[in-house]
Formats: sequence, structure tokens, C-alpha cells
Amino acid sequence: MSQRKLTKDNYYSPEMNKEYMSVSQFKSFMSCEARTLAEINGSWTQEAKQAFLVGNYVHSAFESEEVHSEFVEANNVVIFKKNGSKYSDFETADRMIETVKNDQLSMFAMDGEKEVIIEADLYGAKWKAKIDVLNKDYSRFTDLKTTAELYKRFWSDKYNGWVSFIQAYDYVLQMAIYKQMIEKQFGGNFSPYIVAVTKQTPCDKAVIDFDPTRFDFEYLYVAEEMPRILKLKAGEVAPTRCNKCDYCRFSKVLNDTIEVGELLK
Ligand SMILES: [Zn+2]
Repeated sequence: MSQRKLTKDNYYSPEMNKEYMSVSQFKSFMSCEARTLAEINGSWTQEAKQAFLVGNYVHSAFESEEVHSEFVEANNVVIFKKNGSKYSDFETADRMIETVKNDQLSMFAMDGEKEVIIEADLYGAKWKAKIDVLNKDYSRFTDLKTTAELYKRFWSDKYNGWVSFIQAYDYVLQMAIYKQMIEKQFGGNFSPYIVAVTKQTPCDKAVIDFDPTRFDFEYLYVAEEMPRILKLKAGEVAPTRCNKCDYCRFSKVLNDTIEVGELLK
């Protein structure tokens, strides 16, 4: 096992993804084992999606002015049109940033140390996490989320029912794991918050808290799935293909026909 320290520069590297678990890696394994392993082994790179860039643009605005201008500089071509105005996604992003900055409660929740890298041993693995906002004085942490709208309903097989975007994107799981990791590292009892801002015109916003009883289900869920993930990462079992994602489509080899009904599975 390597002794390299987890830093801002190597946080997203394949080496560190191999060595550490993370919430996004866990979610990725749940959606497609084959693609996740191919990514970890470096044989498949997911293209940075526009939504991801817009999200990072918004996050950088709350980290510091310096980080935000560095981000704008580095991504100039995707942000600005030839005539100097911004592409509409980034104009929306500017409105989202303003919405949060003009709201006192949101800014209170956003107050603290930004982009804090932590690590902890959980469920037989080393985990890494980057906390958007950590406030040790108030024993709380906050994640900033951009979303289409606050009240949209999603069908969830995991929860076997209709859920909000918070469960649909596994943000309860994310907050549950972060809470365990932070408490392992710093002690005490930390409360998670999500500052959510929408892409609507005008933007909607909310500061969301969590009934702690929601976390027990997530801990059971992760504990149940981790043994297989550890075996997959160790190369002891073969990954299952989801047959729907970009990687599976790219690497698909047909060896049989399918009946019409298969298309609805
Ligand atoms: Zn797949």
C-alpha cells in the first residue's frame, strides 16, 4: 500500500481512486460495475460533462474569488462565446451564485472552511471525501447542490417509492457517509445541511436539514454492498455490465438476438 498523502492535486487521480473508496465511486459501482472498474483501471475515461463544469463553476465562486477566476481562466472556451458574452448555462450559473449570495440563511450555512479533504476507515476500506463547507465551531457541514427544481418527484427502486431529488441522487447516503467520516476524524456530533439552488428563472433555493433517522438505512445499505465492491476492486469477482451506460454501449459485443420484451427491462 502506498504512503502517498491525499492532496488537492492527486485527489481525483486513478491511483487514489484505486486506493480509496468515495461516495461517488460507491454510487458509480451501484450504477455500473464494469464501467467503474474500467475507470479505476484507467481503460475508460468519462468525458467531463457540461453539467459537471457548470457545477464546478458555481462551487468555485464560493471557495474564493481567486479560485473562481482561475477556473474561468482555465475554462474560457466553454464559458464564453466569440462575442464575449457567456453561454446560457453559465449565465444561469451566475444567477444561481447571486441567489445564494443574496440569501442570509444560505450564506450562514455556507460559512466555514471550504473544500476540506478528509479520510477515514469505514466498512473495511479507506474512504476519501472533499467537504464543500466544514464548520467545526458549529459542528456542521454543508454541501452546495444545483438542481432543476426543488419539488420534482422521482421513482426510486432503492427506496421503492417516489422520492425527492435528494434521495434520487443519493445525497442522503452522501451526507450519512460524510457525517461518519467527519466524526471519526474530529469527534463530536456533526449536522449535515444542503444548500440547494435551482436552474429556474427566477432561481428557487432552500437550506435542507436531515432527520438523523434517515441515515440508518443508508449505513445498512452501504454495509451490505461493500463486501462485493471490495472483491471487485481486488479483482476477485467479475464485474456485471449494466448494458446501458456509455462504456457498456461502447464495449458491447452482440452474440444473440433479443425479444421485443427485453427492451422494456
Ligand atoms: Zn454500464
